[in-house]
Amino acid sequence: MIKLDKDQKYYIDVVLPLNLWNSFTYKVNKKEFDFLQKGMRVAVSFGKQRLQTGIVVKKHFKKPLHYETKPILHIIDNQPIINDFQWELFRFTSSYYLSPPGIVLKAALPGSFMLQSETFLMLNEGVTDNQLQLSDDEYLIVEALQLQKTVSIKSLQDLFGEKKIFKIVNSLIKKGVIRSIQEVKEKYKPKTETYLQLSEQWQGEKINELFEALSKNAEKQRQILLQFFSLQRQGKPVLKKQLLEQSGAGLSSLKSLINKGILFEIKTNIDRINFEAASEQIKELSSSQKTALKEIKSLFLKDKPVLLHGITSSGKTEIYIHLIKEVIKQGKQVLYLVPEIALTTQLVQRLTKIFGNAISVYHSKYSQQERREVWLNVLHKQQTAQIVLSARLGIFLPFQDLGLIIVDEEHEPSYKQVQPAPRYQARDLAVYLHKIYQSPVLLGSATPGIETYFNTRRQRYNIVRLQERFGGVQLPDIEIVDLKEALRRKRTKGNFSEYVLEAIEKTLQVKKQVIVFQNRRGYAPVAQCEDCGHVMDCPHCDVSLTLHKHQHKLKCHYCGYQTEVPLLCPVCGNPSINYKGIGTEQIQNDLQIFFENAVVDRLDSDTTRGKNSFANILSKFQNLETDILVGTQMLVKGLDFANVGLVVVMNADQLLYYPDFRADERSFQMLMQVAGRAGRQKEQGKVLIQTFNPEHPVLQMVLKGDYQSLYNMQIAQRRELFYPPYSKMINLIIKDKNLQKCQEAAEWLQKSFANAFEKVLGPSDALIPRIKNRFIKEVLIKLPPSKTLPEQKRYILKVLNTFHNIAYFKSVQVVVDVDPY
Ligand code: ADP
Ligand code: ZN
Repeated sequence: MIKLDKDQKYYIDVVLPLNLWNSFTYKVNKKEFDFLQKGMRVAVSFGKQRLQTGIVVKKHFKKPLHYETKPILHIIDNQPIINDFQWELFRFTSSYYLSPPGIVLKAALPGSFMLQSETFLMLNEGVTDNQLQLSDDEYLIVEALQLQKTVSIKSLQDLFGEKKIFKIVNSLIKKGVIRSIQEVKEKYKPKTETYLQLSEQWQGEKINELFEALSKNAEKQRQILLQFFSLQRQGKPVLKKQLLEQSGAGLSSLKSLINKGILFEIKTNIDRINFEAASEQIKELSSSQKTALKEIKSLFLKDKPVLLHGITSSGKTEIYIHLIKEVIKQGKQVLYLVPEIALTTQLVQRLTKIFGNAISVYHSKYSQQERREVWLNVLHKQQTAQIVLSARLGIFLPFQDLGLIIVDEEHEPSYKQVQPAPRYQARDLAVYLHKIYQSPVLLGSATPGIETYFNTRRQRYNIVRLQERFGGVQLPDIEIVDLKEALRRKRTKGNFSEYVLEAIEKTLQVKKQVIVFQNRRGYAPVAQCEDCGHVMDCPHCDVSLTLHKHQHKLKCHYCGYQTEVPLLCPVCGNPSINYKGIGTEQIQNDLQIFFENAVVDRLDSDTTRGKNSFANILSKFQNLETDILVGTQMLVKGLDFANVGLVVVMNADQLLYYPDFRADERSFQMLMQVAGRAGRQKEQGKVLIQTFNPEHPVLQMVLKGDYQSLYNMQIAQRRELFYPPYSKMINLIIKDKNLQKCQEAAEWLQKSFANAFEKVLGPSDALIPRIKNRFIKEVLIKLPPSKTLPEQKRYILKVLNTFHNIAYFKSVQVVVDVDPY
């Protein structure tokens, strides 16, 4: 007779970082059961031979009916790493964006928190053997990584056994020795510097003892220490480079001091210098800024989100700074969201000067070590993370006591996560955060999103206006340049009207700088044979190949395919290939020819691939080494250049005629923002916008900076065509390698949804109907905004579930995009 073990009555449910809606039950013993809490991580095995990190969501005594429970492998945390506020946010994100809880968790947590069998590992740079105190097992892994560069957990699993491997790997990650690999794919690397600090045991009054402790013949080490103290007195962190230079001592002497445990090294990237003391006073506000600040504060009491509608350079950022100051004085935390961290170096510097070490920067492209650090600092309410500056990912941090949420440039599309799931809108989730935490939220923009402005009209949000630029700086003088007319009168050169070239010339003469904006990289986006009309397309995608002249390549911007530039047309064999359209590379080329003596630089994703190249290009421009800077929309965001006299938009039509219901809104926002780059100082700047459609209503509104008219026009259109905010949209993106099957799947889905909902559009081809050999169809559901939305979404999930159970459609992938952008 089998006697039931007492310990077997304890169960936990865990969420795994997988595309599954269920949680899974594991058995634990009484001791584990008592110790575990919701929000702690456990290592478990799942399926055949797979290890997963699970997060505990429930403890209970109920044996699952349908499967045998396995025991957990071990417990990873001593305390929960997720708090109740976050659980509520995750729950909402999952149900609103129709994304399984595990996928939300995977996106929200730093990658190294959620190891899986499939995770690859690699060594961190700059870790030397003698720094490490490793166990034998840990050492074996380090050795393996020195030999192989990357190793999957799966392959190590066999070596160390399921039970041990996560423990060892987690410990190595905690020690900063290794990292999991997701982030390595990303190109952006923050620039790091090495600083030195005095170890704690020698701090304070112990300096004399310290010098005595050095042996008599350690003259060089003494010099280093003296220099160290003298640098430290200047109140700045001590840079390793500088210390070595100024003390005149060698690296080996410094190493000895480190080995003796007197000094230790800290590597940090420049955005996050955490020892810097505040060095600047907060600026006194102008009277209109003061009024705005007062209004904002009184509206915060009313418990609605507040929109700060302030034109560019009106000093929104200064107002944020004043608000932040008050909140951190009360010991509360601040979340400051910006659309793109990599583009806000200037902002980071500005904030650091005021708030010193109270500010942390959080970024998906930072190393996991750093992300992990910020996460834990926020969780434990450390002073260094009192203010978190972050792109959209920051909304998922474990705030305990959030006193203020700022969403700067709230209209920016980059707040929407496009890939992978969950496809959330961080601005919208920030508004939900404000409900969860009961903390004020401020949305700031010069050109608010239509939905946001609509919310102020419906009294769901409050609004504060700031309509003058700080210090009486004039708005730039915007002019539309009619390319049609210029062509007719033969007043063009290349892609420029002569008028624009003259303006550039004049600007350069008075030693001002020029920005030229073109939202397309490469040299020319279309290569076509003049004789037979053949267009060189990507073999894997339905797009034309872009010429990259300098590299002598034709490239696909969707899948990365590239090929040598053909001399003859591959179809008719004639040497008549002609290149059409303009990219940034061509503009740079042409300008260099027109303005021989000018320094022309380019900022786009081709030139910013390398380490620090983004910062380098910008700092050259800022230091006036560059005369003309050509760039894509990367240029537009949040940059503050003092010496720009002229901004040229090469072709506004590209923006205006983009096939999307938001094209008008986007164009207006983008053009106003580009214009905002000109003349941010006393003198009035100039903006020239080239177009073949000078009468386009949006351009007329840009000319007058007339947001109100844009809003009125847009909202009328949206109402008529049942677009947001009058409807809620859910886009289904259906992908398959087989065109026929893709179409059938899309039709199946369309029909099923049409049974339940009134407005189901499609199936239609996606904007790019084929990418990487997969055909893409779309089905769009438009729902009236109503209380029953959650129910309707659950219905959609049910239909999708049925769909995925059809064997014939097994290969078909369906992406669900709620509130698509
Ligand atoms: P916005 O965020 O609205 O574009 P900023 O806050 O960046 O505007 O302000 C534009 C410029 O004016 C910045 O260089 C900023 O330092 C300066 N500025 C704004 N307000 C003040 C103020 N009250 N005192 C001094 N300088 C200010
Ligand atoms: Zn391609």
